[in-house]
Amino acid sequence: MLRVLPSPSPSFGDPMPFASLGLPAPVLRGVRAAGYQTPTPVQQKAIPIVLEGVDLVAAAQTGSGKTAAFVLPILTKMLDRPHALRALVLAPTRELAAQIETAARDLARFTRLRVGVVYGGVNIGPQERMLRGEGVDLLVATPGRLLDLQGRQSVALDDVEFLVLDEADRMVDMGFAPDLKRILRLLPRDRQTMMFSATMPPALNDVAREALVDPVRLDLAPATRTVAGITQAVYPVPRGLKTDLLDELLRRTDTRGVIVFARTKRGADRLARQLEKRGHSVAPLHGDRTQSQRERALRDLKRGRIEVLVATDIASRGIDVSDLSHVINFDVPVTPEDYVHRIGRTARAEATGDAFTLMAHEEERDLKAIERFIGKSILRVSIPDFDYKKAPTPQEHGASGHGGRGSGGRGGRGGGGGGRSAPRPAAPLPSDPVHGRKPRRSSRGGGRRM
Ligand code: AMP
Repeated sequence: MLRVLPSPSPSFGDPMPFASLGLPAPVLRGVRAAGYQTPTPVQQKAIPIVLEGVDLVAAAQTGSGKTAAFVLPILTKMLDRPHALRALVLAPTRELAAQIETAARDLARFTRLRVGVVYGGVNIGPQERMLRGEGVDLLVATPGRLLDLQGRQSVALDDVEFLVLDEADRMVDMGFAPDLKRILRLLPRDRQTMMFSATMPPALNDVAREALVDPVRLDLAPATRTVAGITQAVYPVPRGLKTDLLDELLRRTDTRGVIVFARTKRGADRLARQLEKRGHSVAPLHGDRTQSQRERALRDLKRGRIEVLVATDIASRGIDVSDLSHVINFDVPVTPEDYVHRIGRTARAEATGDAFTLMAHEEERDLKAIERFIGKSILRVSIPDFDYKKAPTPQEHGASGHGGRGSGGRGGRGGGGGGRSAPRPAAPLPSDPVHGRKPRRSSRGGGRRM
């Protein structure tokens, strides 16, 4: 049975200090050091619920501040007791797991609590040594690696009192439901469970039924709603001209950290190479990259050393790049949920960002499905002096696979009319010749700390 809290959710700006949420001094110091001034809506709602000790299901997206919403009350509840592995956070990807660990470690830095992370794709030895040696109080893990470690008797789960399933829908999408069920059976029944999930696919219902007892439900950011602060635009363009248009967009738009989504790993690699040839600094981010390559790519984007990451959906989950200015969909995402998740990479917390989608004529149906899902239509725009009729620049086949004739001559105003000249996002800079490079920013400026 789900209990629904009545909640007109307060906005980010409401003055409600963390102290009034019942967090103790060492935890508040961590919050201050992280630079958080006021709790986000999910934090305002979830922290008291978790402190109260009841189970929770929260529909909150990445970018809502959900990590601190569970980390802060869990740290609070673990302050007074001896060291043991008492909190377990499960996440779908290495990137998300690493990001949660970094946030938790930051927030816990004025406590004596130890935080650790384990995920697959890297040598298991150091993780075993960490768990067997100094041990941790809060462990962030991807499900498969946790089971491997448990099978090798490197981790004992008998003392776990707090379980968090983060991005639970994505864990189920990725086929982790059986692993989750196995893990649930290894945990004490007497525990508090929190589940964060943007959507509730049927396979997740099953897991939720096993995992949660009479949970409170928080519905702050349904998946059909996109994050406020994002300017969304669609660029209709013949498929064969997508790389040219993307190149132009990157040249003309003042960007500070861009993620371009491609459908496949090979497509991402290809597109990265094509952009590089045109003078952009780029790194690919997908499941075939090694952990250290992915970490380096993220670091480089955050530090402004590269301009663009070309990513696939799976690899993108859990990316936390504050101050990311643009998400560009090279292809229209196949599912509306992917669209919402992807554009959630920008406009984190109260920042703003732009989400552009390049749409070939044959992708219009997928876009319409997205518009129905988010409940509004997305502005169609064109770059005023981009030649939509030209022959594509010779190159390797397009990043999305070579998808047909293109529709040269449509003038970039597809989508059944309603096209407009480019608004703010793509307006050419008056001083910027079409083929001139815009000056690179020397500093990223203005970003929150992570
Ligand atoms: P999350 O949804 O947990 O991935 O958090 C999204 C981003 O918001 C992260 O970069 C956090 O550091 C940041 N953040 C979380 N809580 C707050 C807050 N209360 N004030 C400002 N930024 C926050």
